[in-house]
Amino acid sequence: MAAMVSSTDKRVVPAATNGVNSWGLGDGQAIPWEYAPAPEARDLVTLKERYGLFINGRSVAATGGGTFTTVDPATEQPLARVARATTADVDKAVRAARRAQSRSWGQLPGKERAKYLFRISRILQERSREFAVLESMDSGKPIKESRDVDVPLAASHFWYYAGWADKLDYAFPGRVARPLGVAAQIIPWNFPLLMLAWKIAPALAAGNTVVLKPASTTPLSALLFADVCVQADLPPGTVNIVTGPGEIGMDLVTHKLVDKVAFTGSTEIGRRIARGVAGTDKALTLELGGKAANIVFDDAPLDQAIEGIVNGIYFNQGEVCCAGSRLLVQESIAEPLIDKLKDRLATIRVGDPLDKNTDVGAINSKSQLDKITELVQSGIDEGADIYQPACDLPDRGYFFRPTLFTNVAQSHRIAREEIFGPVLSVLTFRTPEEAIEKANNTVYGLSAGVWTDKGSRILEMVSRLKAGVVWANTFNRFDPTSPFGGYKDSGFGREGGMHGLHAYVRLEDR
Ligand code: NDP
Repeated sequence: MAAMVSSTDKRVVPAATNGVNSWGLGDGQAIPWEYAPAPEARDLVTLKERYGLFINGRSVAATGGGTFTTVDPATEQPLARVARATTADVDKAVRAARRAQSRSWGQLPGKERAKYLFRISRILQERSREFAVLESMDSGKPIKESRDVDVPLAASHFWYYAGWADKLDYAFPGRVARPLGVAAQIIPWNFPLLMLAWKIAPALAAGNTVVLKPASTTPLSALLFADVCVQADLPPGTVNIVTGPGEIGMDLVTHKLVDKVAFTGSTEIGRRIARGVAGTDKALTLELGGKAANIVFDDAPLDQAIEGIVNGIYFNQGEVCCAGSRLLVQESIAEPLIDKLKDRLATIRVGDPLDKNTDVGAINSKSQLDKITELVQSGIDEGADIYQPACDLPDRGYFFRPTLFTNVAQSHRIAREEIFGPVLSVLTFRTPEEAIEKANNTVYGLSAGVWTDKGSRILEMVSRLKAGVVWANTFNRFDPTSPFGGYKDSGFGREGGMHGLHAYVRLEDR
């Protein structure tokens, strides 16, 4: 189900393919450039026909035996049937987590918890190819990203928090850090394994136990992680994984034995979750959407900035909460920068996520593809100018061309709403003051980027941009030691670093 914009009637329509890749000459022209396919082996993964829930250290069928299908978004073919949890299953999982918290995991000294976390990290490294292939099959992300970003970062999160498990006294000097209890964790589909690691690693390091609900379109890496928990000999009930529709997420959030809720996903569901815990003493962290400004000043190294812009918005098909989806360019360099960007776009390879040459894989689901298509159409209708390189898309699967909009007004939907797709809106500015005003003119506040030669300007911008993370002369850089999170409609609380640990402890006086 490929899509492109027809130049005649200005509607987003399915695209034809011509079987070759291209090398850009600027402004949509391209010369043919063949790439030999370099597919990663699918047989690194042994898919089960059916996956159960992971409760109390065992795989179990859902009460009533319900299942749902997870599909490969690049082929639209089913991958496996997965148990569809009910309210009763959520209750079982929370009770298993509660038992483990009071009897086994919660009683272990920090240095013992650390050993398990180091072991999990080691197993993730040992099984990294298997995880990378499975993640790309289930989510549509290019193998080079799951192989080089998602899986290594997931392993390093466990490694990093393993280091803290026996050092909580040093993390919070003069205070006693106690676990909160049972953590309900709901994760999205854009970085399934990595979001699992961001949530489970600090929770376990601090002595909490976990019930995690993955997104329905990407449950498989979490279920493979259940295998890792068994392999690491984690006490049963320490980690529980329930798969099923959004409503069971709400059952989890509102369960009376849950002490902490951590959610990553849309602002709309984040608001519902906040309402669900209101009036209780549950701790809550929300990591929601974004509409980041990536700001390029006229003294920036242009070629580097181009790579940063491309990485900022086309990484993971733009399905990234902190994606640099609004490019703010200083007016004096707008023309050369956009020309260079168009050339670079023409070299981006869109296609089979399991091909090691692929830069942009499949959109995660049909509904997400429809949402992107609708927002791109709104950009055309509202008068922005669209550019898409003449690249080829596969006949099947949920693919979308890397898209660039110029002549964008701040009032356009494509400049205000989170598209969560490979779509960049370019706006211009004349002065740093105007750049700050435009960058902060959003309901979100998750991330931003600044490209300039001047250190003093970076510091000034960083102090005035209302964003949880600001990258300077780079974009989309992640590290377990560094906190990540937002302001305003992007949520609250931080994940990563010591801040991420803080979200899973109750601090008491000595
Ligand atoms: P959602 O916020 O609906 O999904 C995120 C997670 O929440 C999934 O595990 C989902 O389960 C679960 N969920 C859904 N409904 C509820 C509920 N009522 N109570 C508790 N949990 C629930 O995101 P979508 O997949 O619908 O994507 C919509 C938009 O959200 C995207 O287009 C994008 O703009 C944004 N988004 C932002 C993300 C981010 O990282 N900030 C991540 C993903 C999406 P299930 O999959 O079973 O529905």
